[in-house]
Amino acid sequence: MELIAGIDIGGTKIAVGVGTEVGAVLCRSRRATAECGDGDALLEAVSRMVEEALEESGAEGPLTRIGLALPGPVDRSRGCLVGSLTLPLLNFRDLREYFEERFDVPVALDNDANAAALGEAFFGAGQGAPVVAYFTVSTGVGGGIVSDGRLFRGARGFAGEFGHQTILPGGPRCLCGNYGCLEALVSGPAIERRARQAAASHPESRLASATDLSAANVAALAAAGDVIAQRIWDETGYYLGIGVAHAIAAVDPDIVVLGGGVTGAGALLLAPTQRSAERHLPAYLSAGIRIEIAHLEDNVGILGAVALALESAGIDPPGVTGVRTINE
Ligand SMILES: [Zn+2]
Repeated sequence: MELIAGIDIGGTKIAVGVGTEVGAVLCRSRRATAECGDGDALLEAVSRMVEEALEESGAEGPLTRIGLALPGPVDRSRGCLVGSLTLPLLNFRDLREYFEERFDVPVALDNDANAAALGEAFFGAGQGAPVVAYFTVSTGVGGGIVSDGRLFRGARGFAGEFGHQTILPGGPRCLCGNYGCLEALVSGPAIERRARQAAASHPESRLASATDLSAANVAALAAAGDVIAQRIWDETGYYLGIGVAHAIAAVDPDIVVLGGGVTGAGALLLAPTQRSAERHLPAYLSAGIRIEIAHLEDNVGILGAVALALESAGIDPPGVTGVRTINE
């Protein structure tokens, strides 16, 4: 049995778990990133979390691998983050070397969106589907593409960067500097911004008296029947569906999996996204495509990192024996 430490270093929290090749999480722990510091202090804190999780898991065998999901662009050949805004002291630090020396096992690493895509393909909503396109819709918008249990990373590692496709030319300004990116329309902060605007122009809506206009609360008001809040989700799904349609045209997946905190809105987001994706594709491209909400919930960080370790070792997803042969 494989005994894999899945480490998810995020901008706000760090999750560490011990998992297996079939996606069982034997033990997990979590700490606020701010509590762990940056640079050496953070690496020491994470290493202790791994040691504690291993001990708590009660596993008999030794650790076999480590997978590491990181919050920002990653240079896999150098084993490091190259542009993290939240953890600047980790940039250009060889993390593969650090953990390989500390634990004496192989270490695989990638950015958190690619890790989540692989996690959902191995153990979640995409399990059993040969080609998976994954969107994460959260504070930012990102994604990943998995084919036969392997990430398609592109020439420079940026494949599946779905958040910065222009959806609405001249639309709201994105953090990347462009206008009308998918991220600037459907991320958590984008939904909150549109909710504030709607609250100002619709005093009859419960949005106008709400102090909390986070995506989660806009979803709660929509679920309680507020028509203006519902309209915000219809718009969000409309824009997200255009982004999903572009991904379908580029990737031709069996399934599009939607993950990230904003997808906690469930059917409020999923239904208009499905309608919009279908509307923005010719019938032969949209036919039979599944668009679904992710399954792994708050284990996605750990299991994504575990899947990175398995992928790097050439191990297939559970239930898959050998890679499909095309055009034999
Ligand atoms: Zn952008």
